[in-house]
Amino acid sequence: SWLQDDVAVVTGAGSGLGRAVVERFAEEGARVVAFDKSEDKLRLLKESLGDAVETVAGDVRSAADNDRACARAVEAFGRLDVFVGNAGLWDFNRSLPDTPADELASGFDELFAVNVKGYLLGAKAALPALRASRGSLVLTLSNAAFYPGGGGPLYVASKHAGVGLVKQLAYELAPEIRVNGVAPGGMDTDLRGPAALGLADVAIGTAVPIDELMARGSALRIAPRPQDYVGAYVLLAARAQSRTVTGTVVDVSSFGTLPRHQG
Ligand code: NAD
Repeated sequence: SWLQDDVAVVTGAGSGLGRAVVERFAEEGARVVAFDKSEDKLRLLKESLGDAVETVAGDVRSAADNDRACARAVEAFGRLDVFVGNAGLWDFNRSLPDTPADELASGFDELFAVNVKGYLLGAKAALPALRASRGSLVLTLSNAAFYPGGGGPLYVASKHAGVGLVKQLAYELAPEIRVNGVAPGGMDTDLRGPAALGLADVAIGTAVPIDELMARGSALRIAPRPQDYVGAYVLLAARAQSRTVTGTVVDVSSFGTLPRHQG
């Protein structure tokens, strides 16, 4: 067990990739605070995982809610070893020409508040406990952190900004805290978009034939499940496996090997 007795906070833990990370971390011996805005999803997760999990309902855009999640880890489990920033919104490929200027402005504010500010506030909240444990941050990025076409300009810029957070925070927080990212490709999840773009109630899998696009268009010709991406989180979180690793993003999307970006 690579994470035996470690304690994690995972944001956006209620479904999709975040939930898969929580389940895998628990299998690896960790105890986890699952932080999500959806109380319904958190209830289902708690029913399934029991004592390995504490849940905190809140919004990653709030410093106070991030503080509550990290405080819960210390109160309930005595420490914090890894903070996984993962909650995100997608823009459903809304392009610059096709988006009215007022929606670009309000959509930017909402999407960046979750995808970028949320990670920054999470890192800030986790800082004292991670310093004490010599722990690490792992941020969920995307193929859109490196390549165009995995979203519109709002999403792609937000995930590129995530690379900047990984590099700058790794630089500022060394040598106590390691900071890394994981860049998954497409998967069928409950991923939503900004309400400002009218995308709060639509999930990626219902709007885009994501499994088909991945099976046909990704280098390895598979339609990944969230579980397929979580190994990199375990590797980066496990001190004994990644002592020398900071400031890097593991690209698990396979998109870099395509002659031309697809999907
Ligand atoms: P998901 O919607 O299933 O999971 C995200 C969770 O975050 C949801 O449970 C949601 O309730 C929660 N959340 C959203 N906004 C929140 C907020 N303000 N405060 C607290 N919780 C909030 O989607 P997913 O696909 O598992 O997304 C997880 C991460 O993976 C995101 O960062 C996303 O950008 C990234 N990603 C997804 C894909 C894909 O194709 N699905 C591809 C690459 C990267």
